[in-house]
Amino acid sequence: MKIRSVLAAALAFSTFAAPARAMADELPDLGDVSQAAITPAQERRLGESIMRQIRADPAYLDDVEVADYLNTVGNRLVGSSPDPAGPFEFFCIRDNSVNAFALPGGFVGVHSGLLLIAQSESELASVLSHEIAHVTQHHIARLIAGQQKAGLASMAALAIAILAARSNSDISQAAILGAQAGMIQSQLNFTREHEREADRIGLQILDKSGFDVHAMPVFFERLQKATRVYESNAPSYLRTHPVTYERIADVQGRIQGIPYRQVPDDIDFQLVRARLTAMEGNPRDTAANFMRLINERKVSSEAAARYGLVIALLRAGDSARARRELALLQTLKVRSPMIDALAAQTLVASGELEKGLAAYREGLRANPGRRALAYGYADTLISAKRAGEAVDFLTSKLESRNSDSRLYELQARGYAATGKRMLQHRALAESYALRGNLTGAIEQLQIAQKAGDGDFYQQSSVEARLKELVALDMESRAKP
Ligand SMILES: [Zn+2]
Repeated sequence: MKIRSVLAAALAFSTFAAPARAMADELPDLGDVSQAAITPAQERRLGESIMRQIRADPAYLDDVEVADYLNTVGNRLVGSSPDPAGPFEFFCIRDNSVNAFALPGGFVGVHSGLLLIAQSESELASVLSHEIAHVTQHHIARLIAGQQKAGLASMAALAIAILAARSNSDISQAAILGAQAGMIQSQLNFTREHEREADRIGLQILDKSGFDVHAMPVFFERLQKATRVYESNAPSYLRTHPVTYERIADVQGRIQGIPYRQVPDDIDFQLVRARLTAMEGNPRDTAANFMRLINERKVSSEAAARYGLVIALLRAGDSARARRELALLQTLKVRSPMIDALAAQTLVASGELEKGLAAYREGLRANPGRRALAYGYADTLISAKRAGEAVDFLTSKLESRNSDSRLYELQARGYAATGKRMLQHRALAESYALRGNLTGAIEQLQIAQKAGDGDFYQQSSVEARLKELVALDMESRAKP
């Protein structure tokens, strides 16, 4: 694709043409963050509009376990950041390149390639805290505001250009074609001062949240070594946040004297990495690969490798062998709700619905907030023709998680199975609205309105919600 190569050239240029500059002892602060010309609400809206495109892209990894893990680590860091209450959302992009990027409004994307190259949770955390710092210091808002002042483009086009500059995945390529933002994107790269500030604040976040700060220069060096191997095809993280010797030296200087911290990785770090590997490629080949690594004892965590093996076997449709391998995994006595969910899923896949439901219930007792367990439980209840129970369970979950679109989607399926058409379309409408699809939500409410099987209160509640969403839709069309 032509635009892609132009983009790559522009980004590579910004990395290698960075002028040598004497290292100042103390750089001035980048100014009062409140002076940013766009408001946090505008930033959030821009971020949401970009996220709608990202979520619709096949490269967006819609996997609850991976997302929950990233958000657990990410929010632990956010809690120690200058903006601990700021809304953040961490998500994974299926892409082998090593990259992470922050969008306006606190959305932070991580490529699967970066998760796989990180050798410890602290290394992953060092990248996330750097991205969090770009957000809390409103670097993106300033770049946008600067461009806007120069009258170069609309905010929406700029936001998409930001996405293109942050991520080299096909998502941004598709977006950029629509926005004609290619010409300006090269001016949207973070400056060296932005990078320095993100490193400085990122280190503070890393330290305060209990990770090992020495992981940051180690990870930078790993990336730099990777550049030499890839030569012209440098990992994208280097292009969007150029790692220079100066930056590494700067970070090393800052952490001098801070003792190493032995931070044991959460088992979920290894499980998520195994999960990402297990979801790729031909499932039989992937299973064979896990098996070989286990036999040759070439794995950093046997439990994680066996976890990946079971996923690959389930993907291959070999539920009998998946059950045998799961039993071996369980003998290792490693506790994680991710393993609980996989155990229940394996039972269900081999046709043992009641045993699967019992396993989900047991997992939920230990971890009631775990989404994968809740989704799996409701889904299995519906398959077991116990949709009424599924609806009751989901309704109670929605009391505390009323912004969870998947719960509404499952509730809609439950209502459909019990023949409640108005409630089915009403629930589906909420699920669409939460995913940012207002048009679809309005259509579903109109269907619900005509279903004719609800009582007076349900009918008026549908009509009130319809009015609300129509107004919201008009407002969002008025403000691009
Ligand atoms: Zn950066």
